Amino acid sequence: MKLKRITAVLLLSWLIFQAGAQPVRNELLVPDIDGYHTLKCDFHIHTVFSDGDVWPLTRVSEAWREGLDAIAITDHLEYNPHKKYIPISHEAPYEIAKESAQQAGIILIKGTEITKSMPPGHFNALFIDQATPVHNDDYKQALREAKAQGAFILWNHPGWKAQVPDGPKWMDEHQELFDEKLFHGIEVANYNEWYPEVLHWAGDKNLTIFSNSDIHEPMSDYLLQNKTDRRPITLVFSRERTSESIHEALLAGRTAGWFREYLFAREEILNQLLEESIDVSITGRNEKNITYKIRNHTDLVFNMHFPVAGSDKFLPGRSSILITLPAKENHDQVTFGNLLSRSGKPVVAQLSSLMKP
Ligand SMILES: [Zn+2]
Ligand SMILES: [Zn+2]
Repeated sequence: MKLKRITAVLLLSWLIFQAGAQPVRNELLVPDIDGYHTLKCDFHIHTVFSDGDVWPLTRVSEAWREGLDAIAITDHLEYNPHKKYIPISHEAPYEIAKESAQQAGIILIKGTEITKSMPPGHFNALFIDQATPVHNDDYKQALREAKAQGAFILWNHPGWKAQVPDGPKWMDEHQELFDEKLFHGIEVANYNEWYPEVLHWAGDKNLTIFSNSDIHEPMSDYLLQNKTDRRPITLVFSRERTSESIHEALLAGRTAGWFREYLFAREEILNQLLEESIDVSITGRNEKNITYKIRNHTDLVFNMHFPVAGSDKFLPGRSSILITLPAKENHDQVTFGNLLSRSGKPVVAQLSSLMKP
């Protein structure tokens, strides 16, 4: 009897060990919209080839396990603190990572970070051919070279306190770069913060919205320290699962920033994500009240505010809630507080409009 129990315990431990030993991919559930594939991307990642702590291959396996579709390794051109031990090679991270990315089905986009003091700050150039020629003391020349290579360029962490302690500032230098079309996108969220003013800029100036990790440490450290199970992600609504299609989508502004519980995007994109994520049905009705079941079959979450006091609800991923509302006019109007096209401008919808015919 005792031996049997020991055998059973050993067998169980072995099974748990086996399950734990096998790397698995967390398949993130985010709906496709409007005929586009929704790709989960991170366009801002560091390795030991600038001031990061990890080797490029680790960035690929992290991305695979976390359910990402595409990444760009964007090491600093101008900042190489490991150069005593690791030779400066701006092309190396992409070259090292590309084969394992291909095997894992991760789209690897060649990128680099142009790293200047403010103004104008830091910029990522994506879809470049060669990083080395982009390295230039003159930031305009650096951006022009990247543009000549066909790069998509975004302004990184415009609200980074180390550079702008009083908050993001659109300076004359940024206007000049914008007028010369030397950048087309901007990080609304970076690492562990997001910038409400920058969401306004994105709307006013038609800049493509990004939410990127800017990770330097192992991703497991970030997730632990920030008590989250997901890095900042840029959702890209792409015609195909290719680098070229992602580039086209970025130029067309078809993205959403997915940061913590928030989604930042153009209003029409938010509305479509909402419609594809949520099913509403009526489960009960009498003269006074209507009871709704609201089901979320995705990993997105929803903060819902109803006009009736005290009836705010949080709808977690892959779950349903019931809510009973008084059967008055406009009773089913919901404000989704975490879906923002501008800061202070959340998505508003009627529950009835979210019912499937
Ligand atoms: Zn930076
Ligand atoms: Zn960076």
